[in-house]
Amino acid sequence: MPAAESILYILGMASVIAIVSLAVTLSFKMERVQLLSAEIQRLRQSLQEMDEQAKLIVRTDMELNKIQEELDKKVTGLFALQRLSRTISTTLEENQVFQRISPSLLEELGFERTACFLWNEHEQLFQPRLAINYSTEELEALRLFVNSRRDDFRACFQKEKPLSSFSAEAPEWQARVKETFGVHSFIIAPLLPKEGDKGFFFAGTENADSTITEGDEELIAVLTNQIGQALENARLFEKTWKAHQDLERKVEERTHALTLALEEVKRISKRKNDFISAVSHELRTPLTSIKGYASILLAGKLGDIPEEVRLRLDKINRHSDELTRLVNDLLDISRIESGRVEMKQVPLNLADLMTQVYDLLGGQLKDKELRFSSSFPADAARIFADAGQINRVFINIIGNAIKFTPAHGSISVTSSRRDEKTAEIAISDTGCGIPKESLETIFEEFYRVDNQINETVKGTGLGLSLVKQIVEAHGGTIWATSVPDKGTTFHFTVPLAP
Ligand code: ADP
Repeated sequence: MPAAESILYILGMASVIAIVSLAVTLSFKMERVQLLSAEIQRLRQSLQEMDEQAKLIVRTDMELNKIQEELDKKVTGLFALQRLSRTISTTLEENQVFQRISPSLLEELGFERTACFLWNEHEQLFQPRLAINYSTEELEALRLFVNSRRDDFRACFQKEKPLSSFSAEAPEWQARVKETFGVHSFIIAPLLPKEGDKGFFFAGTENADSTITEGDEELIAVLTNQIGQALENARLFEKTWKAHQDLERKVEERTHALTLALEEVKRISKRKNDFISAVSHELRTPLTSIKGYASILLAGKLGDIPEEVRLRLDKINRHSDELTRLVNDLLDISRIESGRVEMKQVPLNLADLMTQVYDLLGGQLKDKELRFSSSFPADAARIFADAGQINRVFINIIGNAIKFTPAHGSISVTSSRRDEKTAEIAISDTGCGIPKESLETIFEEFYRVDNQINETVKGTGLGLSLVKQIVEAHGGTIWATSVPDKGTTFHFTVPLAP
């Protein structure tokens, strides 16, 4: 082979080899390019995912910030609310409740403008009770507006639910409220004290950025609840205070009237006593003369008298004795009542007193065959009393017992120690008894129970009245207990001997 051909052959072979190797390299590169572009695709995708995650993180962060902000607002609001509640709940004056709602505390809650209106049922009008950040003219405009739309505002406390600018209700009315009250958003919450006028509480903000939330509505609901409670307490207190004042005034009036009446009674009683004293004295003198002349005639000092005349004179004598007793009793009652008789109190043995009583009344007891007994325990055997006067007490009560107890009955006298200084005496009989309705009146002057015995037995109705005066003059009390047809017990207290 010629040299030129060999060279050409070698060149041709070399070019084929070069092309083949180039093609191999190219296909290898192409494969790499494909792999790389797949890689780029994957990277782009994950970049996109990261971008979305980053956006999500930013969004979450923003939301968290917002929640944090809300939370901070709520905490500040709660603190402000707590302080406000404390200040308004420590007053019992209605005006003070409103005066203590301070603008700064409401600003802390996020409201710069506040007002409060109460519905006056009598005038059928809303009256302002609180206005923060409103001038007098503005307040007057508010008053006119509120009353011109009274039904809308009354609906708030009638339905017992708050109205706020974030609700979709009544857009026209809402717009008018915002305009008149000069706020961007607001809450109107009902004031519902159980006592007295109800109303509403308005809280608004001029700030367009701070929107009112459900949380604000809750805060205002709590606040209005507290105000309502404070108003209720103040009104209840005022009511109680007024009732107390009324009562005091009435007590004062009555006391005054009673003092006047008592003075009048004392005056009348004095006049009565003076009158009885005077009349009794006047009666005693002629009575003594009548009795004296009758005795002279009876004694025959003026000559013999016929039997008929003697009988009449005896009657005159007995009747003047009765009249003298009556006059003396009356005189004694009035003297003891007016304190003109001094009780000469000395220690006395009840047993000795009974002996004296028995000496006087023994005959009558025997006549009616009545059993008489007395028992005085050692700790109540001696009393501290005026001997003569206390004797009259026993004689009157036991005398009555004899009068009103049928034959063969029994009478007993006992004593007991009531306390350190007092004895209680009880005189019981098995007589006709006293009706319940007369148990107190028997101690009144001239009172006698309307019964068969009294129709036949003589009496004046003065005995128990005198007894009462004597017992009371000793510092004691007297009362009677009785079972009709079974018997009566008279009880009285008297000082024990020291
Ligand atoms: P008098 O005995 O003179 O009528 P008193 O003042 O002593 O007046 O008594 C008033 C009345 O009380 C009597 O009339 C009688 O009706 C009633 N009374 C008093 N003691 C008794 C008694 N032991 N039992 C029943 N009634 C009595």
